[in-house]
Amino acid sequence: MLRRGSGYGIAGPTWREGKRQRPAARPRDVKAAARKLKKRLIKHGSASPHLLDIANALGRCDRRHRCLHPACPQCGRAVQRTFVRALYRFIEAHEHLGPWVMLSLILPPLDPEGEIDFVAERARYTAVLRRAGLRLGAFGLDLSFNEDDRRTLPEADRFAPHPCVHIYGIAPAAHVEAALPKLRRLVPATNMVCRPIRRKRFNGDPAAFAYSHKPRFTRRLTILRDDPRRASPVRTTRDRVLTVEQEIRAVRALARAGLTGRIVLLGVHFELVPIARPRRTLRT
Ligand SMILES: [Zn+2]
Repeated sequence: MLRRGSGYGIAGPTWREGKRQRPAARPRDVKAAARKLKKRLIKHGSASPHLLDIANALGRCDRRHRCLHPACPQCGRAVQRTFVRALYRFIEAHEHLGPWVMLSLILPPLDPEGEIDFVAERARYTAVLRRAGLRLGAFGLDLSFNEDDRRTLPEADRFAPHPCVHIYGIAPAAHVEAALPKLRRLVPATNMVCRPIRRKRFNGDPAAFAYSHKPRFTRRLTILRDDPRRASPVRTTRDRVLTVEQEIRAVRALARAGLTGRIVLLGVHFELVPIARPRRTLRT
């Protein structure tokens, strides 16, 4: 679908992103992001021919020839939009399987010091979902660089900075409720993550699917914030943009994962078939 130009469109999608309800990235935004990333890779990746190859691929991606590189911001946007469109149509065509919930799981990091491995993480999360009994769902792997910025705590009580791959996606509410006791055993709370399992009723907004495959990763700082209603400061998080070193780690990880390597499907698969016109209009 991407080769035929799907997902690269100019028209803004129906959904808005984040708490501030910002419009989704436009082609010119991702083009600018690709140029910036290319410069960074050339500047900081001079010792690595692999990073220079990626920079070259991103630089050549245009309407006539899409690079389809997993780290390309333009192609990443197209994958996200194609994913949202396919999933939205699936949910619309299978209303009888609902109600649906958005489920988020965070497992402890595989190797905090080592390379980020989406292939291994995909296998690990798929195994956990299956062991818990989930047989139907569509998920995306997301990445954040977590850092403990609770400066008033002693060093020993703060966790070490680490990349965290987590999963977020949609599944039938009844299946998730049935799987919950097993999920709670398989996905324990830790000092790094107090609430590793979250679920929320799907409200029909395709922004949730877009979020499950968002192309930008964040640097997530855990902080303590004063709350006048409580005796002690409360733990919360604050998002920042990635450092250059983190961005390069993420690019390497995406390159190894492949263009669709962050998509996790249970009991469904993508197929290119002609479909009836959807009832509601969704621009993606
Ligand atoms: Zn591209």
